[in-house]
Amino acid sequence: MARVYNFSAGPSMLPEPVLEIARDQLLEYGCSGQSVMEMSHRSSTFDAIIKDTEAALRRVLNIPDNYKVGFIQGGASTQFAMVPMNLMTTGHADYIVTGNFSNRAAKEAAKFGQVDVVASSKDKNFTYIPDPDTIAYTPGASYVHICENNTIFGTRYTKLPQVPGVPLVADMSSCILSRPTDVSQYGLIYFGVQKNVAPAGMAIAIVREDLLGNAGPAVPDMLNYKTLIDADSMYNTPPCWCIYMTGLVLDWIENQVGGLAEMEKRNNAKAAVLYDYLDSQEFYKNPVEKEFRSIMNVTFTSPTPELDKKFCAEAAAAGFVNLKGHRLVGGMRASIYNAMPAEGVAKLVQFMEDFRKANA
Ligand SMILES: *Cc1c(COP(=O)(O)O)cnc(C)c1O
Repeated sequence: MARVYNFSAGPSMLPEPVLEIARDQLLEYGCSGQSVMEMSHRSSTFDAIIKDTEAALRRVLNIPDNYKVGFIQGGASTQFAMVPMNLMTTGHADYIVTGNFSNRAAKEAAKFGQVDVVASSKDKNFTYIPDPDTIAYTPGASYVHICENNTIFGTRYTKLPQVPGVPLVADMSSCILSRPTDVSQYGLIYFGVQKNVAPAGMAIAIVREDLLGNAGPAVPDMLNYKTLIDADSMYNTPPCWCIYMTGLVLDWIENQVGGLAEMEKRNNAKAAVLYDYLDSQEFYKNPVEKEFRSIMNVTFTSPTPELDKKFCAEAAAAGFVNLKGHRLVGGMRASIYNAMPAEGVAKLVQFMEDFRKANA
């Protein structure tokens, strides 16, 4: 067996100790005589799994009691629709567009009411984040929506919009659990789990209680936060395996890493190795304004598209896979989520330097 360093933006690496536990429990979970993949979601064994997973998420993220948690199928993209369907009570909402996903979220929301794009960084190809303090927000907006870490463009917010009386809604798909988060700053947080949490197939929403229960009568039950959350995420058959894997990853963060403050230290250190290298030479370039550089997704280009292609091919052959940048940006992107070991980043930088010397 030769495991590669997988720099994919998602689905992405899972911590090896987590995969080992999943392997050991694959045929029989506990003394249940069956796999989690096979068991009834109504069984007491699975009931304990989902309850323990939610409790762990609450501990790790320090989620206040007045927030509810929902495990929801359909990924982050379904959340683009669920947010306006459930929260756009005044008929309009503000969106800040800082990349592909926030743009898609805004377009989806416009099907349900008026969307005001109050700021955008499109003018500089999404290489920065607009200053949230100088934005003219729309009076009476139901919420302000942001994408906190821009997976494709490699940027992240360094401060949050704070609009008195208007809930902040954040897509945190590519940064959740990468560092401590003050959940009380948000009305709703959502994330697809396949970047930093679990295998693909689920999103998690963390919703302030008072924002629930306002969906109109035409909203399908399966897209109604209140219906799903009132049923403890078991309105229908939930993504049982994904929930189980989420629990294992949370246990790894809590008991092996030592919590989110330590996770953040590790992530900052990994990103610094890569950015320091990028800043130390002229062959590779990172287009993002330094202040807004993502800790999770690091983009860079070599001098030509031909060299980019050669880089990705040779990197893959050397065991560094999925480094090709998103088609909207080109070049390369190294996604260095929680599960990417520091050693993987150090070895990538060594590979980059060898490639530079051979091709400069
Ligand atoms: C990956 C990603 C999405 C899309 O997630 P799906 O689960 O595939 O719908 C949305 N937003 C962000 C920030 C992402 O990184």
